[in-house]
Amino acid sequence: MGMEPQTLFSVWLFLLGSALGSFLNVVVYRLPRGESIHSPASHCPNCNKPLKPYDNIPILSWLMLGAKCRNCKEPISIRYPLVEFMVAVWFVWMFQLFGLSWEFANFAILGVLLLTVSIVDIDTQLIPDSVLIVGAIIGLAFAFYGDVISISDSLTGGAAMGGTFFLIALIGEKVMKKESMGFGDVKLSLMIGLFIGWKMAFLAIFLSSIFASVIGLAAIGLGKMKFGKPFAFGPFIALGALVSGIWGDRLVNAYLRWAFV
Ligand SMILES: [Zn+2]
Repeated sequence: MGMEPQTLFSVWLFLLGSALGSFLNVVVYRLPRGESIHSPASHCPNCNKPLKPYDNIPILSWLMLGAKCRNCKEPISIRYPLVEFMVAVWFVWMFQLFGLSWEFANFAILGVLLLTVSIVDIDTQLIPDSVLIVGAIIGLAFAFYGDVISISDSLTGGAAMGGTFFLIALIGEKVMKKESMGFGDVKLSLMIGLFIGWKMAFLAIFLSSIFASVIGLAAIGLGKMKFGKPFAFGPFIALGALVSGIWGDRLVNAYLRWAFV
């Protein structure tokens, strides 16, 4: 009994995604430290011993090593296999949703870019420009060559989303007398707008503020966060953008049906 081509491709996407996730782990570690992302080869951050190829297999090596470095036995964070698993599942999920299409490519890649930015933002409260620039170029290229949104929709999306967050940042600064929202969030929003277009950009802004309020209040309630203390807003913008870009049409239709019965 042979495997269906669809299934075979999903398996390949899972492997590709986990490998890309493994690279992403290197990027989010080295980028904020100003280190080169291609050399030296992967090594243990504690004892600096280079990883053997069989200790560098996405997801599996972490399990086989029992979450410890083979050399110094320093615990290895669950974040490494988790990121690999997330990208792998994301690729397969997007393929199941969209088949082999521009939409698949658009959202598979946007997801990877946003995951990268979110992790660095959580770690350092900064959003790396280099990832945003690469993302903006890819987003524009998709709009230009692909069929998800037009190039004018992409440009208006970037302007609408970046512009709105710029205004929020400006007003926040005037009201709070200090930087409330980083300029990194403004640039991140601009990049997202290029991928999802202006309509979904506005929905993304709305959704990200809801996610931030709900999760922020829950975190304060659980004592994990203090009110008024700065937190990374990037991950919420990322979440809002993906939900709006991928499920926005369905969300809006469901809302309209519910509101006008
Ligand atoms: Zn080690």
